[in-house]
Amino acid sequence: MLHADVAVVGAGAAGLFAALVAAREGAQVVLVSRSPLAESASYWAQGGVAAAMTPGDSPARHMADTLAAGRGAARESAVRVLCEEAPARLAELTALGVSFDADRHGALALGLEGGHSARRVAHAGGSATGRRITRALSAAVAVDAGIEVLEGASASALWVHEGRCIGLLAEPVRRRSTQSTLATAVAVAARGTLLATGGAAALWERTTNPRGAIGAGLTLAHAAGADLADLELVQFHPTALVAEGDDDGFLITEAVRGEGALLLDAAGERFVDELAPRDEVALAIRERLHSQGTPSVSLHLRPVDMTRFPNVANALAAAGLDPRRDLIPVAPAAHYTMGGIASDLHGRSSLAGLYAVGECGCTGLHGANRLASNSLAECFVFGRRAAMAAGEEPRAAPPAAGRPQPGPSPVPSPHTRAALWRLAGLERSPDELRRLAHDPFGLARRIAGSALAREESRGAHQRSDATMPEPRLDGMHTVVRGEGAPVMEHWS
Ligand SMILES: Cc1cc2nc3c(=O)[nH]c(=O)nc-3n(C[C@H](O)[C@H](O)[C@H](O)COP(=O)(O)OP(=O)(O)OC[C@H]3O[C@@H](n4cnc5c(N)ncnc54)[C@H](O)[C@@H]3O)c2cc1C
Repeated sequence: MLHADVAVVGAGAAGLFAALVAAREGAQVVLVSRSPLAESASYWAQGGVAAAMTPGDSPARHMADTLAAGRGAARESAVRVLCEEAPARLAELTALGVSFDADRHGALALGLEGGHSARRVAHAGGSATGRRITRALSAAVAVDAGIEVLEGASASALWVHEGRCIGLLAEPVRRRSTQSTLATAVAVAARGTLLATGGAAALWERTTNPRGAIGAGLTLAHAAGADLADLELVQFHPTALVAEGDDDGFLITEAVRGEGALLLDAAGERFVDELAPRDEVALAIRERLHSQGTPSVSLHLRPVDMTRFPNVANALAAAGLDPRRDLIPVAPAAHYTMGGIASDLHGRSSLAGLYAVGECGCTGLHGANRLASNSLAECFVFGRRAAMAAGEEPRAAPPAAGRPQPGPSPVPSPHTRAALWRLAGLERSPDELRRLAHDPFGLARRIAGSALAREESRGAHQRSDATMPEPRLDGMHTVVRGEGAPVMEHWS
């Protein structure tokens, strides 16, 4: 058995940052990391980190944009925390070695993205932001004596004793390509256990996410008795590449639309404000795909200087596309899960001792539609808060006998992934959701139940039978507690 003050699961932006904060506060940290860097969503982030950094901008303005994008379902207290604290976290990242792009005067070069009323998206290496951030944070973690990293190890259960999470079970990943620090399963006892396991958008067949984004932390937390929330609120990114094989679903950042890229339908006409929030753009594309009977619309990249987006240019070249010559075929794909493990403003879940941050958590910050580039900011703002709080948890004595046992498998079958795309995609009908509610995979059933409970259309959740927002559901969150039917709750 290993002992720690704080056990962190996941080595994306949220987990790496939280581990560093906890260690710098004097905590002994064990970081359980399942996969190589390139398999975290953080690694693939292209746009950047949103923070109000210029005299013409302010946290209040960032708040107003975030609340507007959230379509009346964002939790105002969480939005305030994010917008007020993001600038300080950006400065900390710089101190940790992340070199954000600057203009020729040395000031931060801030990008404009859909739904933002000001240039406030800091990026690094153009569209290589996630890569640069995760590399810098990983390097800092590797040399921090307060952090023990269990690489190639997967958390397969949370350890619950007398109504409190007191750690987890870590197992070596048995994959030929993965080297593990562990030869065998090990229990990690900790005062605070912090899940930073990423989102669940790869549960959907067509996705922009790496394969591991299957909501593993949600499955662990639910099995341990923690509440989940807003599972029906899934953002579909409007511009994912339509291509054969592994290139399909590659995300083309909306920052290119901020720099002048246009969306054209089959007739070569513009049909939407390219800088509208994601839900609006995705629905407008879906309407064109249906009305024109095509599998994709076109992204016209010729006005854009693609040297500023090197990894997009490289991915398009790999798919045989030249943005100077070709129109790029794109269509929506599942991208970001606004829902997750219900958590307060310090990342605390409903289970004592258990925290959730980053995309696996749900503070209610994003409401029904995440504003672009708020999610990396969320990883750092709430990652720091949770790390501080987890280190303050009381030390619980592990029971003399009885170790945690592996819980249900978090891995969906191809059938489940296809069913989620077909039955809980951009537009949902009650009949289709009822069919999904019988899926063998627990998380798919809970997503269906939550989508059935939200009898309205709001942001990313569009119901064919209730096409407008329902005023009585303003500010309400769909909470899954145990095996009971979801309940709608207001969070202050
Ligand atoms: C293509 C793409 C582009 C994006 N662009 C942006 C952007 O520009 N700006 C922005 O703000 N957001 C962006 N996002 C969203 C953002 O990247 C994610 O929300 C954010 O990175 C999530 O970080 P995280 O640390 O919560 O999770 P992740 O980065 O996904 O990391 C989770 C980690 O947990 C590990 N893990 C999971 N389960 C276990 C387990 N049981 N045991 C051990 N380890 C486990 C995974 O292997 C992974 O390493 C983008 C997302 C994608 C997919």
